[in-house]
Amino acid sequence: MLEISDLFCGYGQVSALKGISLKVGKGELVALVGANGAGKSTTLRTISGLVNARSGTIRLDGVDVTRAGPQRMLQMGVAHCPEGRRVFPHMSVADNLAMGAYLRPTDAALKADYARIYDDFPRLAERRHQMAGTLSGGEQQMLAIGRALMSRPRLVLFDEPSLGLAPNIVEQMFAIIGAIRDAGTTVLLVEQNAFAALELCDHAYLLETGRVIKAGRGAELIDDPHVRAAYLGG
Ligand code: ATP
Repeated sequence: MLEISDLFCGYGQVSALKGISLKVGKGELVALVGANGAGKSTTLRTISGLVNARSGTIRLDGVDVTRAGPQRMLQMGVAHCPEGRRVFPHMSVADNLAMGAYLRPTDAALKADYARIYDDFPRLAERRHQMAGTLSGGEQQMLAIGRALMSRPRLVLFDEPSLGLAPNIVEQMFAIIGAIRDAGTTVLLVEQNAFAALELCDHAYLLETGRVIKAGRGAELIDDPHVRAAYLGG
């Protein structure tokens, strides 16, 4: 579904991606793991069109979308759930969700999307009139996920969904992401929590300083001595 070839990208003088290549098959959950600054977030931002590639290609279902830009990527079914959640704190839960569906043509379609998300996330339904900034960290993450799903994406990019959450909520977050994949949506997941991501994913890529240094099935990477020593605490 998604194929990235030899992608280079940076910010001013900083070279963030130095020739990344990776594939995400339809219906798969693929994880990107690696240390801080490895280029994981930049990879997601480049896919969703928030950062421009310097060279290389991004293909979605065989179509070159390298320079498509964020709106076109959303129209093509790619949703980005950003690091740090980025909910709009002074807007209600319902209005935050509506931001995820701004391409929806009619009120009836929007209503159906609300119903679907409230069904999956009853906590958001209970709090639909509450300001997003007053939600707990876990609830804000649920809202960010719900907002991404409002666009009925075919591919969701998750950036560090477990960041800053209590351990029991982290477990719940991974269960939600697994359920999204099980319902047929393709997922590309960036995570610092390497063990949980490798356990959950179908395939994974390990990034170091802007390059893919290992790729394989999650279980293979969990057993890899370098991965164990560097990312899984031995
Ligand atoms: P983290 O988990 O810390 O977010 P990451 O693997 O997601 O790490 P990126 O955020 O993609 O890594 O960063 C890759 C490189 O690009 C780093 O060296 C970082 O300092 C740099 N970088 C990221 N964003 C910017 C920016 N807006 N301006 C300049 N440099 C940036």
